[in-house]
Amino acid sequence: MPDSEVAQELTIAKRFHVPRTIASLLGFITVSATFYQLKLDLVFYVGPLLQGLFWPHIAYFLTKRFHADGYSERKSLLVDSFLGGIWIPFMAFNVLPTVVLSTTLWLNNISAEGPRFFLKGFIAQLCGLILGILIIGFRWLPESSMTVILACIPILLLYPIAVASISYKLSKALSNQKRVLAHLSQHDALTSLYNRGYWEVLSVQEFKNNKSFEEPCCLIFLDVDHFKHINDTYGHTTGDEVLRKVGKIIRDNLRPLDIPGRYGGEEFGIVLPETEKEVAIGVAEHLRKAIEESLIATSNQACIEITVSIGLAQLTNHIKTYDQWLESADSALYQAKQSGRNKCKLYECANNRQPQRLP
Ligand code: GH3
Ligand code: MG
Ligand code: MG
Repeated sequence: MPDSEVAQELTIAKRFHVPRTIASLLGFITVSATFYQLKLDLVFYVGPLLQGLFWPHIAYFLTKRFHADGYSERKSLLVDSFLGGIWIPFMAFNVLPTVVLSTTLWLNNISAEGPRFFLKGFIAQLCGLILGILIIGFRWLPESSMTVILACIPILLLYPIAVASISYKLSKALSNQKRVLAHLSQHDALTSLYNRGYWEVLSVQEFKNNKSFEEPCCLIFLDVDHFKHINDTYGHTTGDEVLRKVGKIIRDNLRPLDIPGRYGGEEFGIVLPETEKEVAIGVAEHLRKAIEESLIATSNQACIEITVSIGLAQLTNHIKTYDQWLESADSALYQAKQSGRNKCKLYECANNRQPQRLP
């Protein structure tokens, strides 16, 4: 069995331990009250008592100890149904406790494994019921005494609460997992900025929103200088630390409405909505300086300085498509690299010439 399935099986067993303990003890109260009404000999109480006291812990132990050999909580649920079935003929099919016990078992099986498993549980319960008839014979005494009615109240009140609280815990865990998964699918693990895919979704959206140029909007491409050299000299761990640091500086220096993402490798893209190019140049310069002034600890206890080159393109009416916007910022980044690195360059569209993607 794969590790994840084993862990899941243990979690399920843990989840069932407490409600099964509650249901077994309350079930014993219901069954023994019915035995009392039927004036059964004391020896008949031993079975339900042993089940009430020990079975939940045995079930938990079995899953914990033998899950690797294929024992699963499903088997314990079937045993629950089988044992529950046995006591029905012993209770002479007394209607109220029979219905209460059966509903508890069915609720359990459906909530744990769904309607198909309910059928399996029902068959196990029928087998138990037949065994019960074989042991004690068929007796029919459907009416319940006041003692039996009162004895059914605890399980009727408490068990649904136990099941509801488990369902609540489960749905909470599920929604947390959903949140974590959504975060993982949208963010880059190393820098915690948006990953390429999600950044593009948001950037395209921003491009469409600003196509009418009512609001100024700028795009920044930022690339770490000589990053290959950093990797080759200090190792990939230091390279990763550089990316983390650059990611943090970008995160710490932007507004909540800005859209920063890791475009790929050591290249970052940032969309600055509602921002004129003069302001965007200020933001880019601020980022460039903050990165230049930061120190990165290497794996051999030394510190290194890094620089970045930045290309910037404002969305203007010369830019017709999203790709052209990216190409414009990329072109400006290329200019920054060409003019010596550690620089910010603004894309200027001369004579309405369409920008070209540079190699
Ligand atoms: P330039 O100044 O012109 O930008 O040169 P550069 O060395 O920064 O750029 P180049 O494209 O030659 O090298 C980028 C390197 O980034 C190559 C690749 O192995 C490395 N890289 C890409 N992703 C990662 C990553 O997640 N972690 C680390 N440590 N390195 C990465
Ligand atoms: Mg680079
Ligand atoms: Mg690069």
